[in-house]
Amino acid sequence: MELYSGYINKLIEQFAKLPGVGSKSAQRLALHVINMPQEHVERFAQIMVDARNNIHYCQSCYTLADKETCPICANPNRDHTTIMVVENIRDLAAYEKTGKYEGVYHVLHGAISPMLGIGPNEIRLKELVKRLEGDIREVIIATNSSLEGETTAMYISKLIKPTGVKVTRIASGVPVGGDLECIDEMTLLRALEGRTEL
Ligand code: ZN
Repeated sequence: MELYSGYINKLIEQFAKLPGVGSKSAQRLALHVINMPQEHVERFAQIMVDARNNIHYCQSCYTLADKETCPICANPNRDHTTIMVVENIRDLAAYEKTGKYEGVYHVLHGAISPMLGIGPNEIRLKELVKRLEGDIREVIIATNSSLEGETTAMYISKLIKPTGVKVTRIASGVPVGGDLECIDEMTLLRALEGRTEL
């Protein structure tokens, strides 16, 4: 006997596809949605569709933005000559939350991983090199301290060195293999302040 109706099963299946949602949570979320007022459900669904349709990548740093340029890149008070290179948007958010970094970012959307078949062309590296044609004083490489993050850092360093732009790497106080987003703000700031030239 089927435990739930076909519709609920479909809903549970969809929730279970989301990252970090196990089958128990998926059941709980699905049943919660069923008990929500109809207009809330419709609003929720519409917000998801609108977000998917209207959000795009910032044409400069490739974070997600409502407009062509994200609020960080559009802010004249930020230091546009310093670019911090991060693997993903969550890492950008972690640094941004410290409120102490005044430069701008570049989101790679991944890291080089020969094992997973992710090469330099699969991440936003060409776009980073293009940005160096402007007035850039320093590129801070803040990829994770995992094997992929280190490989990517080395690759970027070799790529940028010939251009004469200063390349630094955040301090390795960040635990090996640690996801930047899981690390507390103090550790992030220490890693940033203790960065060394490559
Ligand atoms: Zn941007």
